Amino acid sequence: MPELPELDAVVDQLRDRLVGHRLRDFQVVAFSVLKTAEPPHMSLVERELTGVSRRGKFLLLEAEGRFAVTHLALAGWLKLGEAHLSDRPPARSGPLAVRLDFHDGARLDLTEQGKRKGMALWITDAPDSLKRIQRLGPEVDVVTVEEFAEKLGATSSRLKTVLTDQTVMAGIGNAWSDEILHRAKLSPFAAANKLTGEQVTALHTAVQEVLTEVRDALTNVPLDRIKATKKSLFGVHDRAGQACPECGGTVAEVSYVDRSMQYCPICQTGGKKLSDRRMDRLLK
Ligand SMILES: [Zn+2]
Repeated sequence: MPELPELDAVVDQLRDRLVGHRLRDFQVVAFSVLKTAEPPHMSLVERELTGVSRRGKFLLLEAEGRFAVTHLALAGWLKLGEAHLSDRPPARSGPLAVRLDFHDGARLDLTEQGKRKGMALWITDAPDSLKRIQRLGPEVDVVTVEEFAEKLGATSSRLKTVLTDQTVMAGIGNAWSDEILHRAKLSPFAAANKLTGEQVTALHTAVQEVLTEVRDALTNVPLDRIKATKKSLFGVHDRAGQACPECGGTVAEVSYVDRSMQYCPICQTGGKKLSDRRMDRLLK
């Protein structure tokens, strides 16, 4: 799932290519994606795209005061290209979910791979009134160390859970939380309100460092290369069984039904392997 730094890279590119251009067509190919009936998505046609922004893991396309808000979920992505006169109407069975065509020939496709569909699209004049947006905590990259300490102190949940909880702080998901916890040398299962002041500061620094580094690495990387570039930046995430880049130890994993997380026992848990059973309890 795209997280804050990838979405920031997406925003930059969409802004550069699409802002100032008028929509010629707005096709919702996968109907289940569209979560609102009013205003109709077609009401965006003939409007000019006036802004592209991000809130948490949501992407906002603004057209003269009306917004298309999307959440890409686990397997959603975007493709920026050109429309051609010879193009046939898109197939309903493929990965294409939404297609935006612009008068200058630009085309933005929202695609979703796989069977588990989670992508969502809302059309609204007031994005802040959407429940999913209202629930979001502050953007994690602008949270001060004092505010960060307050958020952690308010919960006994595990760090992995707190960092990825969008209602606490918005923007971090499964991948970068693994990298941030590894950077801070903290266990994903450590209780948030049991950290020392030093550990809180280390974690806050790790959040800012990792996000800045990823953002820098993704600058000017084309949309179709962002996922691969992201993967190349992982130290522990998705690297179970491989050598930890810090200590050379073996990266370990806790996996459950639809997700997994990776960590280095030497760097993060005093050599201790975390058990699946604890993870199961944590998820309840
Ligand atoms: Zn290590």
